[in-house]
Amino acid sequence: TVPVYGAPGTKQERTFIAIKPDGVQRGLVSEIIGRFEKKGYKLVGMKMINPTKAQAEEHYADLSSKPFFNGLVKYFTSGAVVCLVFEGKGVIKGGRVLVGATNPSDANPGSIRGDFCVDISRNLIHGSDGPESAKAEISMWFKDSEITQWNFITPVYE
Ligand code: GDP
Ligand code: MG
Repeated sequence: TVPVYGAPGTKQERTFIAIKPDGVQRGLVSEIIGRFEKKGYKLVGMKMINPTKAQAEEHYADLSSKPFFNGLVKYFTSGAVVCLVFEGKGVIKGGRVLVGATNPSDANPGSIRGDFCVDISRNLIHGSDGPESAKAEISMWFKDSEITQWNFITPVYE
């Protein structure tokens, strides 16, 4: 049988992470990618883009009724964004722990938002919030052919 890569609950669980324009402009790309790499997650997708308004609106569609929606779309389209797919055991939930709380004032030190930002409207990074959003966001931002295949020689877990 063909393994179902990316399926939640498997070792191949995948999440979508985006370094927002402030993260790129502040020189935090390597810091942010490094935290995911050092944790033990496997980088399987990576590209830099300038999101269109339509892409930002689709990505944040569930927030379209919020008063901050227009500002959020403007923020997300204001520069370059680094799109990432990380793979690994529990990566959706674990990735959210690395990212930290939505409001940087609530984000624990040691998390990316806790360590590097102060304002909810400039909070550096996006991470999928669950299995459904991870699946939808990966397929929205990446073609299947843009996800790479490679293996750890010594796996970081069984
Ligand atoms: P996330 O999953 O932690 O990124 O948070 P949400 O999915 O709830 O919101 C998406 C993004 O919208 C956040 O990361 C913020 O950039 C922005 N956002 C959320 N809540 C607020 C808010 O109350 N005010 C403003 N200005 N932006 C917000
Ligand atoms: Mg969210």
